[in-house]
Amino acid sequence: MARRTIIRRIGAMEVTEGAGVLVRRSIGLPGLRHLDPFLLLDHFGSDNPEDYGAGFPDHPHRGFITLTYMLDGHMLHRDSLGNRGDLRSGGAQWMKAASGVIHSEMPQQTNGLMRGFQLWINLPASEKLSDPAYQEFPAAAIPEFRLDNLRVKVLCGTYGKVQGPIEDPHTQVQYLDVEIPPGGHFTHHLPRDHAAFVYPFSGQLEIESQQVRPHELGVLGEGEELWLGSTGGARFLLVAGRPLGEPIVQAGPFVMNSREEIEQAYADYKGGRLVRSRARFHAPYA
Ligand code: MN
Repeated sequence: MARRTIIRRIGAMEVTEGAGVLVRRSIGLPGLRHLDPFLLLDHFGSDNPEDYGAGFPDHPHRGFITLTYMLDGHMLHRDSLGNRGDLRSGGAQWMKAASGVIHSEMPQQTNGLMRGFQLWINLPASEKLSDPAYQEFPAAAIPEFRLDNLRVKVLCGTYGKVQGPIEDPHTQVQYLDVEIPPGGHFTHHLPRDHAAFVYPFSGQLEIESQQVRPHELGVLGEGEELWLGSTGGARFLLVAGRPLGEPIVQAGPFVMNSREEIEQAYADYKGGRLVRSRARFHAPYA
């Protein structure tokens, strides 16, 4: 069984999003346009309200899924389809934009720490114009695996016998928030050909003879086995998913398979036809 190694390391770059929110982007810039099926990874983290206060006023999406994981803070989501959702510390939000959603994501705090991630997951061509769907998962709905001082929060996929609440049938995404103690290690099995990456947001990881520093995205090569260690202790995301292997044409908030479909998305947005159907709202787990 082949062990996975780091084949690329991408330092996250600071960019300004929304109405002026400072984020660290690793996937979605010229250095790493996509990691099929992943289109974008933004990490936001600041205790300075000037970095996040402006939020993300109304904007459209079409053709993919956004998965937002809030480590600290409180955001309010509203969309053109009638959904209203509170995203609080430790919670997650899964939004299948599909044929079209217009939404806002606005901070509900004027000070304190705001920290989390947004990942864009591509949809196959057959799903890009399907009905949107929206689901929220408060912290209590995200189960945790614990063994000694290893702690794994399972958002998507399975770790040990712990199964996460969020599923994507097209890419079989796994999304883990892992904390390993100083001198500790972490092992996992992954389907051999699934795309996978690690993103340490505190502490440094060691894989074989390589290191991945905080705010670096480490792209993993193919293999079934994963072994990670950390001399000083670390907390990181491990994300994996099945590549779709389809053409990806991205323009701002729209990700389709062809230039024509992107032009259609802009025409639909301008003409008020982006939102085709009402999202199905699933009540939060409680
Ligand atoms: Mn958005």
